[in-house]
Amino acid sequence: MTTIAPPDASPEAAPRHGTVRNHVGGAWVDGGAELLDVHAPATGAVIARVPLSGPAEVDAAVRAARAALPGWAATPLKERVQVLFRYRALLERDADALTALIVEEHGKVEVEARAEILKAIELTEFACALPQVATGEVLEVSRGVECRADRHPVGVVASVAPFNFPVMVPHWTVPNALALGNCMLLKPSELVPLSATRMAALLAEAGLPAGVFNVVHGGQAAVEALCDHPGIDALTFVGSTRVATLVYRRATAALKRALALGGAKNHLIVMPDAEPRGTAANVAASMAGCSGQRCMAASVMLAVADVDPILERVVEEARRLVPGDTLGPVISREAKARIERHVTEAERAGARVLLDGRGATAPGREGGYWVGPTVLDGVTPDMRIAREEVFGPVLAVVRAADLDAALAVENASPYGNAASVFTTSGGAARAVMERAQAGMVGVNVGVPVPREPFGFGGWGESAFGAGDITGKGSIEFWTRTKKTTTRWGT
Ligand code: NAD
Repeated sequence: MTTIAPPDASPEAAPRHGTVRNHVGGAWVDGGAELLDVHAPATGAVIARVPLSGPAEVDAAVRAARAALPGWAATPLKERVQVLFRYRALLERDADALTALIVEEHGKVEVEARAEILKAIELTEFACALPQVATGEVLEVSRGVECRADRHPVGVVASVAPFNFPVMVPHWTVPNALALGNCMLLKPSELVPLSATRMAALLAEAGLPAGVFNVVHGGQAAVEALCDHPGIDALTFVGSTRVATLVYRRATAALKRALALGGAKNHLIVMPDAEPRGTAANVAASMAGCSGQRCMAASVMLAVADVDPILERVVEEARRLVPGDTLGPVISREAKARIERHVTEAERAGARVLLDGRGATAPGREGGYWVGPTVLDGVTPDMRIAREEVFGPVLAVVRAADLDAALAVENASPYGNAASVFTTSGGAARAVMERAQAGMVGVNVGVPVPREPFGFGGWGESAFGAGDITGKGSIEFWTRTKKTTTRWGT
């Protein structure tokens, strides 16, 4: 008897989303012959294939963008943002579908995926407001002589994104760069290529002229081609510090304006006078939200003096998170192995495992890349887990005698993305606000992401280049000012 295999049973079967295509000059085109499997982290199944574009594909997209630039740059800002008003409405219309796509390709739980869409809408709203915010200046500098400064686009620009926020991070750059008159190439992470492809379709539906926004898929070769291409004037990067360093050096060596955001090691200082319930809920949410795959995630809790009752609550809060239900998987098999290695190494070095997420699984989805919430006590600042970014739902608790000792640990880290303090003392809060060597500080807030119009950006090895990537800082990055001096009359 012959049996007919179900459509997806054969390893040769085409994945559900087929082969992803580049979006160049308003058309969907092949991204090159070399393809990479895209896995759904919750099941391990192959859901798509992504092309690994190289210099030829990048060059084609740059040509399309350069051809579109004169028309788009000459369109008044008030007209350009009309496209983004329509795009914002399309994000709302397709919020359910986009949420489902993030859940599938990234593995986030639904509420986290939906939060990305809401944030993308907020970021688009800021771009819609740019006619009121990105104004020029004029001043009579001496009798009859006037100086004015006008903003002009930088030109053709590129944005390279990481895997951990497939929709939100591209929205840090895309709406503002386009509103300010640039034409753009987006290079999404090859681990999550599907959401960016939907963004291109929605921007086209909103009426963005062909060539203004292009998507080039791929990995290292595509990014290197973006850094090197003389037709690209500015480039932003968001990802790990290792790659941010390489990209920043390479892009600036090619004389591009560049901003490269890197990894993080965020410390949450918990003071003995902190309000226990809210603090524990915040610490647990910060360390395990998005499965700890946030550059703003709490990675180290600096426990000042005796905060054991709060720590017990943190462990209880974390224990309530269930992989496959309220906690998503991590991005890949390699990420799961790396995170579990960190925990085992710390345990061998003397840390106590209060909650162990190693070997976690989700019933019915055993092929997924699951790591349960993990809390380690007795971590010392010299341990690898206290120094390196783990990027998983793992909290290392380091004991500190007082606030000065806690700040010394926080400030010894070469990273400087975020730092938070939990306290009911204004003096302790003030001390952390002033002395923490981090670009984003939280007081009783575990994930202190600045909201528009404030800019997102860290210090130290968490960001290379001047300014922030969102908010008002992005206006400086995506424009050049032209200063004109005029004299009329006698
Ligand atoms: P990653 O550095 O591995 O990849 C980021 C991008 O760089 C991807 O598009 C990838 O294709 C490309 N890339 C990878 N290797 C490259 C190479 N050798 N040369 C050139 N390009 C290369 O980062 P990831 O794993 O996708 O994302 C997680 C990291 O991003 C974490 O370190 C996290 O902290 C960081 N992150 C930082 C921020 C921030 O605002 N500072 C925000 C989000 C994520």
